[in-house]
Amino acid sequence: MSPAPAVQVVLASRNPKKLIEMRRIFTPVVPGIEVLGLDDVTAFDEPAETELTFAGNALIKARAALAATGLPSLADDSGICVDALNAMPGVLSARWSGHARDDAANNALLLAQIADFGDDKRGAQFRCAIALCAPGVEVVEGGVMAGRVLRAPRGDGGFGYDPLFCADGYDVSTAELSPAEKDAISHRGKALRAIAPHVGTVLAPNA
Ligand code: IMP
Repeated sequence: MSPAPAVQVVLASRNPKKLIEMRRIFTPVVPGIEVLGLDDVTAFDEPAETELTFAGNALIKARAALAATGLPSLADDSGICVDALNAMPGVLSARWSGHARDDAANNALLLAQIADFGDDKRGAQFRCAIALCAPGVEVVEGGVMAGRVLRAPRGDGGFGYDPLFCADGYDVSTAELSPAEKDAISHRGKALRAIAPHVGTVLAPNA
């Protein structure tokens, strides 16, 4: 018997780590799923992320990918929300220092901004929204990882603000966790596991 044909979904991202993570979480839910990144599809004009919420920006990206490819499309948006900064950087997390995706500059600025705050006022949450868009379908799921901002970077795993973040119940930063340990508690892992059944319904409605 020949294997079942692959079912394709687009993840509106060029981040290879996100693609790998998504394949790992979706494959048991949708056997044969093929997760394509933006580098695997014909190039299209990618919209600016102009919404004020993670869900809004995830929808902008997933709608654009569906319109351009005709394939069911997923997009995520995520960031860190710091209590002492009134939930900022939030949707501006990737460009908080003014330079897109400059992790070192973003981290240095965040540390400086809350340097005077005591341990009881360093609460923060990583938040993630993932949108799924297919013809006649729009779903958004979210995930949160609560913790606090450390006083200095620790560890060299992960990315972004991971060296500065300690999740509730842990005494190491998320940059010191293995990828599997972080997936199990992370905002993105939770959102991916929540959206996976919807992806299964869209891709294999009769399964
Ligand atoms: P994006 O969702 O890929 O646009 O990421 C937004 C920004 O939020 C990233 O550039 C990081 O600065 C930050 N961020 C989101 N998720 C994480 C995480 O799991 N660890 C560390 N930083 C994160």
